[in-house]
Amino acid sequence: MLEISVISIPFIDLQAQHRQISKETDAAIQKVMAHGAFIMGPEVGLFENELAEFSGAKHAVACASGTDAIALPLMAWEVKQGDAVFCPSFTFCATGEVISWLGATPVFVDIEPDTYNIDPDDLVRAIEETLRDGKLAPKVIIGVCLFGQAANYPKLREIADKYGLKLIADNAQGFGATLNDKHPSDYADAVATSFFPAKPLGCYGDGGAVLSNHSGLADLIDSLHVHGKAVAADLVGQIFDHDPKYYNIRVGMNSRLDTIQAAILLEKLKIFPTELATRNKVAARYCASLEGYVASVPFVKKEYFSNWAQYTIEHENRDGLRNHLSSLGIPCAIYYPVPMHVNPAYKRFAPAPGTLRVTEEKASRVISLPMHAYLDEETQDRIIDAVRSFNG
Ligand SMILES: *Cc1c(COP(=O)(O)O)cnc(C)c1O
Repeated sequence: MLEISVISIPFIDLQAQHRQISKETDAAIQKVMAHGAFIMGPEVGLFENELAEFSGAKHAVACASGTDAIALPLMAWEVKQGDAVFCPSFTFCATGEVISWLGATPVFVDIEPDTYNIDPDDLVRAIEETLRDGKLAPKVIIGVCLFGQAANYPKLREIADKYGLKLIADNAQGFGATLNDKHPSDYADAVATSFFPAKPLGCYGDGGAVLSNHSGLADLIDSLHVHGKAVAADLVGQIFDHDPKYYNIRVGMNSRLDTIQAAILLEKLKIFPTELATRNKVAARYCASLEGYVASVPFVKKEYFSNWAQYTIEHENRDGLRNHLSSLGIPCAIYYPVPMHVNPAYKRFAPAPGTLRVTEEKASRVISLPMHAYLDEETQDRIIDAVRSFNG
């Protein structure tokens, strides 16, 4: 019997990146093995400094995951039961999950149809409705840099200021993204990012960081991510001659970035600007070749620079396209098939039917193609041809 075999390509080629930098990362890991400071070793502080510099923020606190990085500022602001935190429903579940951890209520907001990011007009509607309802106190807005493009942070900042709310940028997908040559940290009170391996800047395990220009907030987060340890500001006027980590001022958590991961990230950050440029080249080539063949190719606003965490197109027969690509050995991903407010864990927070119209429509149309900095033109063409050859 004749077997037709297709060679599968990876969705994100982490091995190709590793081949590029394995000498450096191996040496960096060996160095940590030799000095043995696996927790809070010198590489963690070095990485925090580099990270802050790269992202134009005054302070960076590395932590154990992107999820914790969103939770930490909420904890610092003592967000609690009875508080409303506004966020999109069209996002990875961690955005809304951490709100629920604290007993607060995620208020889901619709997205812009072209960028998939939180719609500022719908945000105002949601805030006004919450105020009229009078059951919850509006506290925080979380914007998400979905697929690598920053949300409209200037507008979100304006809205946050008008209503006296805090603003978090969930930058787990958006590290390196800018708008008007500025980073999300220029607008948001806190920026949460993730170093999950598949994110544009990933480590070899879990990791995350909070960036902020507010030194008071950074201090609080520094305390909270190590069990609420005393930080310098807590000890003013006191004599405490023991390790401040054994003097617990507040209820915190254990959310540290491993030294080994920091050492790896220091190496990866060096090649990150080149990777950003390459990802943009791949995206431009995809767009030029796929426009007109699918319902929509990604739209990046003027003055916005995307890191292309995902290359996401739309198709009326999305699942048909997915099966067609899969039969040709091309993996794709659906981000996200089920909006947060439709998921069993969060449907109790769902707004009235019809409120999140764009979100619900997009969930049935989006499909993301392989995207990374090591996607050569031959492989790009194979993917492009496969998409073009689908007539469903
Ligand atoms: C990946 C992701 C997170 C969570 O990051 P982890 O490091 O996996 O905890 C949060 N928000 C968004 C939008 C993400 O894509």
